[in-house]
This record gives sequence, structure tokens and C-alpha cells, in this order.
Amino acid sequence: MTEIHVLDPETVNQIAAGEVVERPASVAKELLENAIDAGATVILLEIASDAAGITKIQVTDNGEGMTPGEAVLAFQPHATSKIRDITDLSTIRTLGFRGEALASIAAVSEVTMVTRPRGGEALSGTRLVVRGGEIVETAEVGAPEGTTVTVERLFYNTPVRRKFLKSRNTELAHVYAVVESLALAHGEIAFRVVHNGKERMATQRSAGLLATVAGLYGADLARSLLPVEGRLPFLTIRGYVSRPQENRGSPSQISLSINGRSILSRKIAAAVREGYGNLLPKDRYPVAFMDLAIDTGLVDVNVHPTKREVRLSREREILEAVTAAVRKALADHDLSRDAPGEP
Ligand code: ADP
Ligand code: MG
Repeated sequence: MTEIHVLDPETVNQIAAGEVVERPASVAKELLENAIDAGATVILLEIASDAAGITKIQVTDNGEGMTPGEAVLAFQPHATSKIRDITDLSTIRTLGFRGEALASIAAVSEVTMVTRPRGGEALSGTRLVVRGGEIVETAEVGAPEGTTVTVERLFYNTPVRRKFLKSRNTELAHVYAVVESLALAHGEIAFRVVHNGKERMATQRSAGLLATVAGLYGADLARSLLPVEGRLPFLTIRGYVSRPQENRGSPSQISLSINGRSILSRKIAAAVREGYGNLLPKDRYPVAFMDLAIDTGLVDVNVHPTKREVRLSREREILEAVTAAVRKALADHDLSRDAPGEP
């Protein structure tokens, strides 16, 4: 064994990056979340790929942008404008709060950021190039208000992680799934996805959840869905579920968000399915799109670096309310006669 020593900051950042940046889709998720947190109403994701895989991930937003000083700070590990201390987490409304994404992404890639504050006096913006965590270039440039972040050469300095990447199409599918879940949770934003110059996906602004579903999965599915609503003093459930005939072999089309944060929850997905009682064949799952607005004090978002899991207080009541809301939606359409637990 060699002597014990403290790791150098570059190695520390590369190790930390492993938790947040698993694959191109994680980069897309973090950049899109930053654009959403910046108050953007229009977000463009551009991806380039060649036979070997994804070569570029670029997100352009019309959000609040950054001053030159903020742009440099944004790449520091644990630098965030979103919380001051841990108590802020109990009222958090932003998707980010860890101040880790940009530092982590930049530690394992080459990042170019062009940004200009919205409504500021400055007529020019800032261009920063960060490679392997080092700022290698800063310049004043002409730029529109908002921010563009471009990530290239992902994992160029972490060959082990690069080896674990799947085929280009698999990685692209993961990226598209990320955009879909964010678009579903944020109807107030127009999302557009372009791959190698071709449009792959586009949602309209403020057209409502059903319109977003139609844009992503087709008008037929959207038309067949039933509205779901439920309420407790600390909870509002809103969404759409499929009729029992429209079912799937896995729960992957149960799309959930809590306070606008798209999340994964086996328990809530199971609660949705439970609302169908025996209307669904064994091992089949409904299609569902559901947002739970929950008092922020009851939601712990600080469970995992990727922030896709949350811990809920009063979980049992919330799960029961979800099941009851789904059961009621089916009953309103006279589809639940056989469901157990109905009076
Ligand atoms: P977090 O989102 O957890 O705060 P990030 O590393 O993702 O951490 O971003 C660091 C900071 O950089 C953010 O808190 C924000 O102030 C700023 N920032 C990042 N992306 C953008 C953007 N697209 N527009 C405006 N500010 C941004
Ligand atoms: Mg962030």
C-alpha cells in the first residue's frame, strides 16, 4: 500500500462527475434543467452524432443568462444561485440546487458556453471554453440574450466510462426520453429537438398537458385518455390515464412529476395501477401522465445526485389519493364496475 494522501481537485471532480454524468442523456437532462430554472420559454436541444456515437449536445435557451462573473462561477463545484443553505431545500421550486452539474460535465468533456443577461445594459455576452475542468478561453462576444451550452468530447479523459456507452441509437433514445419527461412536466415551455440538422420533436407553449402528449405520442393516444383529478389539503393531483384496453407490458409509460420535477417512483406507479383494480390483465400497466403538486415541505428532493428520486412525508395518504383519483376517473367513465373496493 502507498501512503495515504488527499486527491488532487481534478481527480476529485472526475470522481464526483461519475455520479451525475453517466451518459449523454444525463448531460442533456442537466442542461435542460438549467434552462428551465433560468425561466426560459423556448428551449432548443441540438444533438450531433456519427457512427461512433453522440459527438455534440447543445442547449440554447432564452432564459435570464449570466454576467461574465457568474459565467465563470457557474463552473465551480458547489456553486449555485438556487439555494443559500439546507433549509432552502424545504421550499425548493427549482430543479437544480446542488451546484454540481456544470462542474461535473466540464470535468469530463469540453464545454463552450455563450451567455448574455436578459434585459441587461451589456450589448455583448461572454464566451467561455472549459476543457477537463480548466477554463481555457474567455472572450467578450456578440450574443443574443440567454444561454447556449455546448458539450463535446464527452468522457474524452475517462476512457472507462466511455467504454460503457451503448450504441448511438440507444443513447439517443435515452436523450429523447429525458426531453419527453421534462416537456410533459413543463407545458409552459416550447421544446424543440434537432438531431444532425433534422427536427425530431417539438412541443408548443402553454397548450396544456394533453396537447403535449399529442405532440409527443400522437393525437390518437391523447384523445383516448381520461382526465384524473384529486385533492387533499396538501396535495393536488392532475393528469390523464388510459382506458384499461390501452395497456402496456411495462410501467415505463407511467410518467410522473412532483412540483414540476419529473421523477421515478415505483410506489406511485403501483398506486396508479392499483386504481384499475382487476380491469387490467396480470402484468399489464396503464399509460398515465400525472403531476402531483405537494406542499414542498413534505418532499425531500435531496435523495440522489440525479434528483430523480424523492422521499415523501405522508406517503401513504398520497398513494391512497392517487389510487382513489384513478379509480374515480375510470368510474366517471363507467369503466370501473368490476374494480374491487368500489361501493
Ligand atoms: P445548479 O443547477 O444545481 O445550481 P449547475 O452546475 O447546473 O448547478 O449550475 C450552476 C449555476 O449556473 C446555476 O445555479 C445558475 O446560476 C447558473 N446557470 C447554469 N445554467 C444556466 C442557464 N442556462 N442560464 C442561466 N444560468 C445558468
Ligand atoms: Mg443545474
